[in-house]
Amino acid sequence: MGNLQWDNGGKNKNSVLTNPSPAPAPRRVKVDDKRIINCRADVNQLMPIKYRWAWERYIAGCANHWMPTEINMQRDIEQWRDADALTADERHMLKRNFGFFATAESLAANNILLGTYRLITNPECRQYLLRQAFEEAVHVHAYQYIVESLGLDEGEIFNMYMEVPCVHDKDAFCLEYIDTLTNPAFATGTPETDRQLLKSLVAFAMIMEGLFFYVGFVQVLALGRQNKMPGCSEQVQYILRDESLHLNFGIDVINQIKLENPHLWTAEFREEARAMMKAAVELEFRYAKETMPRGVLGLNCKMFEQFLRFVADRRLAQIGLEPVFNETRNPFPWMGEVIDLKKEKNFFETRVVEYQTGGKLNWE
Ligand code: FE
Ligand code: MN
Repeated sequence: MGNLQWDNGGKNKNSVLTNPSPAPAPRRVKVDDKRIINCRADVNQLMPIKYRWAWERYIAGCANHWMPTEINMQRDIEQWRDADALTADERHMLKRNFGFFATAESLAANNILLGTYRLITNPECRQYLLRQAFEEAVHVHAYQYIVESLGLDEGEIFNMYMEVPCVHDKDAFCLEYIDTLTNPAFATGTPETDRQLLKSLVAFAMIMEGLFFYVGFVQVLALGRQNKMPGCSEQVQYILRDESLHLNFGIDVINQIKLENPHLWTAEFREEARAMMKAAVELEFRYAKETMPRGVLGLNCKMFEQFLRFVADRRLAQIGLEPVFNETRNPFPWMGEVIDLKKEKNFFETRVVEYQTGGKLNWE
């Protein structure tokens, strides 16, 4: 037996095709051969599909296609130039969010392509990850487009993750896990390394995409609800729609890994994951305070604390973990409406319909 991917005796588990010559005895992949991590079957055979949820997310992501340049930024440009249209606090809050997201979206793209993609050994999941990677590029583009449209200082925005502690600390929290995954020498296959992958998924999907984005989402959308910076708010709504798919895909991946590898999900591991979420809430709350030190638009820090505790508990429940805060009230119920996208029909229908292929989108 050679070291071929489709029957490699356990070697090169995370590699693509390592030998392009035909296998001595090619084997057709059966559904039961498929594994979400550490799979030894050929990763190039999409069908038969085992994880229908991954394929469906891929289809949903494609049906949500949008481009930042389709959004009219004229009102935003006027308001940004008009000294009376926005307060100094609102400008500060916006710039912080642009700075945070501009880098976070790049981190997301790199984490997927250089880390997650390689380690998730299943073609339908990889199909979704390819779509997600493109969406992260669209999000990076959105912030580039905002910075350019408003004539912001690009050096200030794109260096915020190194220069502003509350932004830096969130990225630093995730970077530890990103560095593990994106290290070319890192491979799964032992309980320790498999748990490292799981932890990185918690850090990225649940914390970066599932918690660290949310103060910014609430703040920019709250401005939009008052007709301030409507283009930026529209961009963020599209991003939030994509991100809720990313988050839900991440949740499904974590749950599938658990299902196939129950030995990884020890009491100690569960406690570690809960502790990570607790620490993340601290960081995000600090970010909330720094971005809006005096409160903006009827939003105050106390509300954000409650919101973050609510979101964190919800995220933990989504991967079968006990709550940390027991917070059951969401102080921003309208965020739920935006996330579910059901009440935003008038908002999305004009542009989204153009991409509709096969009637996949229905905002009713
Ligand atoms: Fe993104
Ligand atoms: Mn994402």
